[in-house]
Amino acid sequence: MRLQVIGDPVLHSKSPLLHAAMLAELGLDIPYTAHVVRRGELPQYLSWAKENGVAGFNATMPHKEDLIPLLDEIHPAAQAVGAVNTVCLRGGKWVGFNTDGGGAVAALREDLGMDPAGLTITLLGAGGAAKAVALALSQAGAERIFVCNRTLSRAEALCAHDPLGHLVPADFSSGTLRRLAERSRLLVNCTSLGMEGCPDRFEDFGFLDALPANAGVFDLIYHPAETELLDRARRRGLGTLNGLPMLVNQAVLALEHFLDRPLDRPAMAAAAASALEGKHP
Ligand code: NAP
Repeated sequence: MRLQVIGDPVLHSKSPLLHAAMLAELGLDIPYTAHVVRRGELPQYLSWAKENGVAGFNATMPHKEDLIPLLDEIHPAAQAVGAVNTVCLRGGKWVGFNTDGGGAVAALREDLGMDPAGLTITLLGAGGAAKAVALALSQAGAERIFVCNRTLSRAEALCAHDPLGHLVPADFSSGTLRRLAERSRLLVNCTSLGMEGCPDRFEDFGFLDALPANAGVFDLIYHPAETELLDRARRRGLGTLNGLPMLVNQAVLALEHFLDRPLDRPAMAAAAASALEGKHP
């Protein structure tokens, strides 16, 4: 048995480090390696993987959506998002899952101490990550999630995918963000604003002043570890969370799928987080 992460580029991926730490913690000698697969090469990869003992793999750019029509079964949550990040071979069939949204909800609960159930949330962005996180927050019982995006039509399309009807599309203007933040206990940044290498930044952080004093701010970005958004939120005394706990928790959930059994999630998350901090052997 072996496990992989595929993508292009993929050699920067933290998945081998995270999974190696968790597998070592479990005492399992299963190799997990990164494998470059270019766009258009998925059918060949799937045949090769089946014949070469790959029991499962994680997928990153540019394959998360392209895998959907090539797999035998798709978990309903991944089907709703329209993207998979975890694929397992079960009885000769490729089964796809998406653990990004579950990882985000677990990180909120365990690392920010906030359960989304019953909350009004302002979520910024309507790309791939925003979709996974918004649908998972809705599933976790959030009362209302305002999905604010620069391109309003993308926010509208995302919200139309929510079978529970908790998602409300909105624009990205300063006025709208302030107005919605006033009503929100949690603000989640799923845009690339603030990410290392992103040339753009937030034009106006006024929405942070509008959030209630007990609100939390969750930025999916983990490079840098503290974005300008999180720095300003922390200085305002708001609870803050960066993207690393989400990254860790999506890996824990992926490993549960690979091994097809429940794991001690806090122990796995601790092992993976230590590896990221360079503490794991
Ligand atoms: P994506 O699909 O490219 O979406 C990017 C989003 O950012 C879109 O909503 C886009 O709005 C918005 N955006 C970009 N530039 C903007 C600007 N100048 N002003 C306003 N909005 C802007 O990217 P993604 O895959 O969803 O990833 C988004 C972020 O999440 C990235 O920083 C990524 O690193 C992070 N992420 C973290 C994790 C984790 O485990 N922590 C997992 C996945 C992703 P438009 O629709 O208008 O273009």
